[in-house]
Amino acid sequence: MPIADKMVKMVESASMIRKMFEEGARLREKLGPDNVFDFSLGNPDVPPPPAVKQVLLELINNENTSHGYMSNPGYPHVRKALADYLNKEFKVGLTQDLIVMTVGAAGALNDTLRALLNPGEDILVPAPYFVGYNQYAFVAGANLKTAPTLPDFHLDLEGIKASITKNTRVMLINSPNNPTGVVYTKEELGSLGILLEEASQKFGKRIYLISDEPYRKIVYGVEVPSVFDAYPHTIMLTSYSKELSLAGERIGYLAVHPKAEDAAMIAGAAGVTNTMMYVNAPALFQQVVGQLQGVTVDIDIYKNRRDMFCEGLFAAGYEFAVPEGAFYLFPKSPIENDIKFVGILKEQNILAVPGTGFGGPGHFRLSYAVPEKIIKGSFEGFKKAIDCIR
Ligand code: PLP
Repeated sequence: MPIADKMVKMVESASMIRKMFEEGARLREKLGPDNVFDFSLGNPDVPPPPAVKQVLLELINNENTSHGYMSNPGYPHVRKALADYLNKEFKVGLTQDLIVMTVGAAGALNDTLRALLNPGEDILVPAPYFVGYNQYAFVAGANLKTAPTLPDFHLDLEGIKASITKNTRVMLINSPNNPTGVVYTKEELGSLGILLEEASQKFGKRIYLISDEPYRKIVYGVEVPSVFDAYPHTIMLTSYSKELSLAGERIGYLAVHPKAEDAAMIAGAAGVTNTMMYVNAPALFQQVVGQLQGVTVDIDIYKNRRDMFCEGLFAAGYEFAVPEGAFYLFPKSPIENDIKFVGILKEQNILAVPGTGFGGPGHFRLSYAVPEKIIKGSFEGFKKAIDCIR
């Protein structure tokens, strides 16, 4: 093998995702874009708010705009703007030195995990979970272990307690959740905080909470509670990929709770791990987002799609909980084998992702980051797919 042995499995799973991507493109080419119902990707299609273009143009036309290297964690004035915004939102006392600008949420996860974990230590994540976590754990040389969730995909606190061992260094949560759309409540986060403190005491080792929040602003009539209130030993990280529809611009950040054990050291280390992979977050887009705190895409567009999709799928006979956030549905597969059912959907030119890939077998994921006409046009195929196995 010309490539490293440890890479073989990772490359295989990456090429599976690429194949799915290519399959969508192939079908669109063959059948026409309106006849392929591709719900496989979480790639935001809602346009960025007009303020993004406006700030970008101002920056491009301003000769003082910086395009050079900066201190590794990012431009100080941008981190200060973020700290001010987060302090207003969460009343947490953040300072700019506890914030690191990153290459999207993926960059923030990579930085934080590599800063915190010794090789061979465990990251515990409630399943189902975002598939990228497998890769970030791999890069950190850590093991990704899963904890169960309740039937409604909320946190199973007893299950988490039973899954923590002396090898657990990080609990990783994601709310609003990809793939389930669940938003954790203040109460369950509070209980998780107590549980993590007890487990840290029991094993004589600080367990850190990482909260991955790229969908924080994409919610429908609910608030996303602050994780900083739940547990001080927390690193919150996010990006502008979804809330400003800037996924390809690769801009995000991480923020370490000021009361976290060794907070300054963790933020410092995350700034250094940053330099090992990408040196720094994109300069221009740091300066863009520094001016756009609190601005989001039009969330109503996603809400209308969610409502339309839920109505159509319920009418066709699918079972699932209406998601409170993000832009995914995670219905039960009408047959046990979700991979087989995704194959049946494909016969109707509907592309979905099997839940098995997310550690949630017996389900499948649908992304509604697609135009409404694609959602509407798919209902007949969804009905045929469920009818043909009844
Ligand atoms: N975390 C979750 C839960 C995601 O769904 C994604 C992307 O889809 C990421 C992290 C990575 O986000 P980014 O594109 O900002 O790196």
